[in-house]
Amino acid sequence: MNLQQQILEKIKSYDKIVIHRHISPDPDALGSTLGFKQLIQDNLTGKDVRVVGYQEKNLEWLGKMDAVEEAFYQGALVIVMDTANSVRIDNKNFSKGAFLIKIDHHPGEDHYGNLNFVDTTAASVCEMITHLALGYGWTFSEEVAMLLYSGIISDTGRFLYDTITPKTFEAAKYLFSLGINISELNRNLYKKPLNVVKAQAYVLSNFTVTENGVAYFKMSKEIQKEYGLTTGTRSLLVDVLANIEGILVRVCFFEQEKDQIRANIRSEGPLINQIAERYDGGGHPKASGAMLSKWEAVDDLIAELDLVCQYFYEE
Ligand code: AMP
Repeated sequence: MNLQQQILEKIKSYDKIVIHRHISPDPDALGSTLGFKQLIQDNLTGKDVRVVGYQEKNLEWLGKMDAVEEAFYQGALVIVMDTANSVRIDNKNFSKGAFLIKIDHHPGEDHYGNLNFVDTTAASVCEMITHLALGYGWTFSEEVAMLLYSGIISDTGRFLYDTITPKTFEAAKYLFSLGINISELNRNLYKKPLNVVKAQAYVLSNFTVTENGVAYFKMSKEIQKEYGLTTGTRSLLVDVLANIEGILVRVCFFEQEKDQIRANIRSEGPLINQIAERYDGGGHPKASGAMLSKWEAVDDLIAELDLVCQYFYEE
């Protein structure tokens, strides 16, 4: 039995299923978990499927999280999606079920599931779920198509990142053929609150560029408060520095509670995930996050990124 069939057998043999994903969810994490819940319920009878995690306000249009009491985990199947390492799983109850499945597309060595279905060639988990469910011969509702399409769109930067493959388009083509209200989706995915636009203007006026093309900015807790930023909305800021001539890597640093500093790192050239891993982070080769404990470490990270840009130019 291949991995996909083993996953189906597990889903068939458990009536209680809880689906988790990573902290600070994005449309791929939410679309894949909410979409898979509906796929299971629409195609198999007698399944009580719940999706758990923090309810991210500005992504509430994708769907609501379920309440899951601890007792529900007894004898339940748990599936964790879009999360490379167990420390980043939203809600630590994930380990309390009877069987654990990991479904992910990030590189990483943390095989925390009893079954681990990891495909680093997939541009999104929503792409994986589309192919998985198609392989099972399952039917997709319009709502499921919208959820999965949202994750594909956002994790590929609207089909512009070099993570896309023919399989990405095959999944998108199939989902699109089921009927998706593109203008509504576009509004939901890309509308920006006014305070975020103003914060973007702040970033554009305050970023720094290193010798070899790292663009970065640092934002204190006070400035984040002044612009009314949340962990959900501030992640929209790093892309303000995308597509600038001469800039290979962009990073934003946000001061957090307990004096920790959260970094969002994006690259248009060199691979940066191994550098991020040295700063308590990780992610994709060209889109990673990190967590730093002091501002000196921020300067070290900027210096490492600058060096990798220099090598990239020399090659
Ligand atoms: P972000 O900058 O939070 O949008 O994250 C970019 C990518 O890196 C996503 O795929 C995250 O799942 C991943 N990522 C972010 N922070 C971490 C971390 N501390 N450890 C491992 N992966 C991370």
